Amino acid sequence: MSEMNEKKTDHHLDVVQKVFSDHSRSWENYTYVYPVISRRSGGMSVGINLNVNNACNFDCIYCCVDRSTEPEVKKVDLTVVRHELDSLLGEIVSGKIWEHEKFIDVPDSLRRVNDIAFSGNGEPTTYSGFGEAVRMVIELKTKHQLDDSKIVLITNATVLGRDGVIEAIDEMMAHEGEIWAKLDAGTEAYFQLVDRTRVPFEKVLKNIESIAEMHDVVIQTMLMKVLDQPMPASEFDAYIDRLDDIIRNGGSIKGVQLYSVARQTAEDYVQPVSDEQLDNFAAKLNERLPNLPVDVFYGVSN
Ligand code: SF4
Repeated sequence: MSEMNEKKTDHHLDVVQKVFSDHSRSWENYTYVYPVISRRSGGMSVGINLNVNNACNFDCIYCCVDRSTEPEVKKVDLTVVRHELDSLLGEIVSGKIWEHEKFIDVPDSLRRVNDIAFSGNGEPTTYSGFGEAVRMVIELKTKHQLDDSKIVLITNATVLGRDGVIEAIDEMMAHEGEIWAKLDAGTEAYFQLVDRTRVPFEKVLKNIESIAEMHDVVIQTMLMKVLDQPMPASEFDAYIDRLDDIIRNGGSIKGVQLYSVARQTAEDYVQPVSDEQLDNFAAKLNERLPNLPVDVFYGVSN
């Protein structure tokens, strides 16, 4: 490789790194909708925050949501969500967004809408208008001819059994939907240590299993150091057992995403694990469940 090509490649890597490291969920004067370039998605992910009041039924020790200040808007106004999403998708499809200083350096390969994601400051399915929001996203995705773009639901799987939630997920799945369900532990004790909730671990597992019996599910797992200790080997074994249980009981796990901390965390005793540790976890998972695709995301959280 010539020196000039090497320099060009280095520059390209710097640009891509800068683009991926911008995790900001704010965009113009919008309240609910935000664009991010996502490494996990390999393109633009349009986020929708249906939890503007910052309330969540989990209190994860690694959560990056800043709950120290009162949010200005606390209720969801779907008319405004629709307006913001329609307008942002219009800017993306027309190409205008790539002229914005935040995205001007985005390489051509990432200039695509990978997904529209329900990914906010809490659990999206706890919002009472979740079904209506899903239908609105389907309508606007169709209007902007984003047929190949996915609709992603990032969920902690706590309230999937609530009225209307499964029906909304069914509709989403019929329009390039993808479910990313959080599973951070293998036992109730570790689950409570990292996710801190009144919802029992058993209920979350049951919900993941039920939805995985109906649709392919992607499992998202945060691996971190808690008080300087990565997840113990026995806990990771138990976590693999839980995945195995879901599969053996007829659930379909499309893949597992392993990642670590890349933003501020709710607790300062939470630190990222090293890339090598992530690789070791992935290798162990591969060894025990060789048919399960595993993606490792190093040093990024979007
Ligand atoms: S589920 Fe998500 S939003 Fe809720 S506390 Fe955990 S990381 Fe934060």
